Amino acid sequence: MLAVRFYGIRDVRIEDVPIPAHGPEEVLIKVKYGGICGSDLHIFKKGMFVGSTPVVMGHEFSGIIEKVGSKVKDLSPGDYVVGDPRVPCNKCKWCQEGLYHLCPELGFIGEVSPGCFAEYLAMDAKKLFKIPSPIDFKVATLVEPLAVALHIVQYAHLSPNETIGIVGAGPIGLLALLVAQMITKDITVIDISPFRLSKAKLIGANKVLQEFPLDPSEKVDVVIEVTGSKETLNKSLEWINPGGRLVLGGIYENKVQLDPNNIIFKEIKLTGINAYNTEDIKKAIELVSNNYINVEVIITDILPLSEAVKGFELLIAAVKKPIKILLEA
Ligand SMILES: [Zn+2]
Ligand SMILES: [Zn+2]
Repeated sequence: MLAVRFYGIRDVRIEDVPIPAHGPEEVLIKVKYGGICGSDLHIFKKGMFVGSTPVVMGHEFSGIIEKVGSKVKDLSPGDYVVGDPRVPCNKCKWCQEGLYHLCPELGFIGEVSPGCFAEYLAMDAKKLFKIPSPIDFKVATLVEPLAVALHIVQYAHLSPNETIGIVGAGPIGLLALLVAQMITKDITVIDISPFRLSKAKLIGANKVLQEFPLDPSEKVDVVIEVTGSKETLNKSLEWINPGGRLVLGGIYENKVQLDPNNIIFKEIKLTGINAYNTEDIKKAIELVSNNYINVEVIITDILPLSEAVKGFELLIAAVKKPIKILLEA
């Protein structure tokens, strides 16, 4: 089968590898689509998160079950599925409580075990969720990033009369916009890309800006920062009203300097977000399968698996034209 394998920084090869064997408690999935995530780009650019190489990349997917292991009860060939790609240690106190996103050893498929940028994927049956048929597999592939957005918005504790700023109009920022709109309409989105801002406007952002506003009257109560860059972190702290909240959902590739007095004098509450919990995945499946929110709007490109590297290059370019790129397996 065709697979996208990471060998090292900017060294990703499309290779023909054997279809993975599945154990008695696992299933073999025919992957339909894999979504390129920001973390795949951190791997491509910096080699972050990866255990041993080469490893098949990718953790966002939808697919159809091809075969089930002898001990698998609740799934059958032909079922449509999405998965929980988290690979926790299953031993620490957080794992014992089901809080896998807090596991200090947390990894993901596509990083510490084979991922979904391949024609087939073998996975523990307990990590899979059936999705209704018929469903658009492209939309189902967005369940995982939507779970991240749900986790972000939940931890932002938004209320309807608050003003919200979202910094970064990539997939997670736009999905957070879609989710946050269910609570409040006063949302400003900041991004350097006019194309991404046009999407934010289309989705329903109240205001879109290429730069942080200077007028104090334009400060917001809550900022959701999903770019993971030094400049926007400091500007976000300045943008927040006294008593406001900052939610960080982007991964930083470098250490950053910030002015803690901005946090202290305004008593800003700062929350970090790491992935999602199992409930977020279930909620995301419910939203997507009932068409409660139009997540499809963020999909801009569909490439064959063989063009995965082109997809990575497009997404790390200085001027990002695409938003969500799916790889068709
Ligand atoms: Zn992801
Ligand atoms: Zn753990």
